[in-house]
Amino acid sequence: GPLGSPEFPGEFYIPPEPSNDAIEIFSSGIASGIHFSKYNNIPVKVTGSDVPQPIQHFTSADLRDIIIDNVNKSGYKIPTPIQKCSIPVISSGRDLMACAQTGSGKTAAFLLPILSKLLEDPHELELGRPQVVIVSPTRELAIQIFNEARKFAFESYLKIGIVYGGTSFRHQNECITRGCHVVIATPGRLLDFVDRTFITFEDTRFVVLDEADRMLDMGFSEDMRRIMTHVTMRPEHQTLMFSATFPEEIQRMAGEFLKNYVFVAIGIVGGACSDVKQTIYEVNKYAKRSKLIEILSEQADGTIVFVETKRGADFLASFLSEKEFPTTSIHGDRLQSQREQALRDFKNGSMKVLIATSVASRGLDIKNIKHVINYDMPSKIDDYVHRIGRTGRVGNNGRATSFFDPEKDRAIAADLVKILEGSGQTVPDFLRTC
Ligand code: ADP
Ligand code: MG
Repeated sequence: GPLGSPEFPGEFYIPPEPSNDAIEIFSSGIASGIHFSKYNNIPVKVTGSDVPQPIQHFTSADLRDIIIDNVNKSGYKIPTPIQKCSIPVISSGRDLMACAQTGSGKTAAFLLPILSKLLEDPHELELGRPQVVIVSPTRELAIQIFNEARKFAFESYLKIGIVYGGTSFRHQNECITRGCHVVIATPGRLLDFVDRTFITFEDTRFVVLDEADRMLDMGFSEDMRRIMTHVTMRPEHQTLMFSATFPEEIQRMAGEFLKNYVFVAIGIVGGACSDVKQTIYEVNKYAKRSKLIEILSEQADGTIVFVETKRGADFLASFLSEKEFPTTSIHGDRLQSQREQALRDFKNGSMKVLIATSVASRGLDIKNIKHVINYDMPSKIDDYVHRIGRTGRVGNNGRATSFFDPEKDRAIAADLVKILEGSGQTVPDFLRTC
């Protein structure tokens, strides 16, 4: 069939080869901003038995030299609080549930100790038996974690692989059967590989759930259960869970998959990043478009606009393009090749505005996102926290503007007030009275 035929969307899409150029590999991260040192003032809560002491410097974490070199090349000077707490916990062999605000370095918090451990205590690499399995709720986040893992494993012999939907299965299988220490995956595609016995977990030493609350909520929990309790799963594996939000009922369920684990929370679980300046406007559905144009006319560069539906995303993208704002979009009905192209165009600035559904709400770490606009308010407060967390990362200033439609968004008002208060923002009166 043709590229992306309806029966097998993406069956023939072979993603571009990742770069091997050091400059490109190490330029992906966001430089830390003026609020970075304020991280030290955030209260830390740690529970569990015999919790290892936090580290204060990357060099006191017993990480392998090659990993430290890559940390230096990435421009990291001081570990963030979640890194200070998590690295020694993971290195000591414990399971972990870790909560820390958006943009505070959770990826390196798990990658650094894991990659270091693989080098320090190497196990022989067998084909189709990854030693580390990292799952992510979206394809683009999987790609980002893959690039981060390649960065921290740079110039080591560690092989990093990725499997995700919307792409050629056969191509990914060729990569996997060459053998990978670390596999980053979206759950559906990972299970395809597992069901066809191309991937088994006999050698798996670490299972990581990034955006863990999302991985364990209704949409993914059955898939995750199948993966984590798979008959081939090596019993001695460590399980690590990371997120900025973690509803209590999902924490309880997560506990079933963890043994004698350490719980770390930096700040309020589910709190918004206080470096993002949040503005809420009362806007009804008929006034949204002109309000958006008004905002973008002042400043359009690096704006991500979240909408509710895929159709709404397409509609708004073509509307803005007509108004001469270079705009692209990312949502679940676009081909995977188009989704990746959209992110590339937005990252390199050839597209100033990115219209997105919630597929882009979690985890993405994009340098030039200056402004997050909730054109449609999400229905859940945690989704709001993740969306606005695409900006204001690693201590940089960020800005978020949300359209609150009193007809439709009343249900989220009380939670929104709490989030605004908890992150030191002013609460508009209409939110308290609606
Ligand atoms: P989170 O997963 O908590 O949202 P990420 O892991 O995506 O955050 O990291 C956010 C950004 O911070 C990335 O660009 C990353 O390179 C950068 N970063 C992570 N740790 C540090 C550090 N210790 N010092 C400086 N920058 C860091
Ligand atoms: Mg993350």
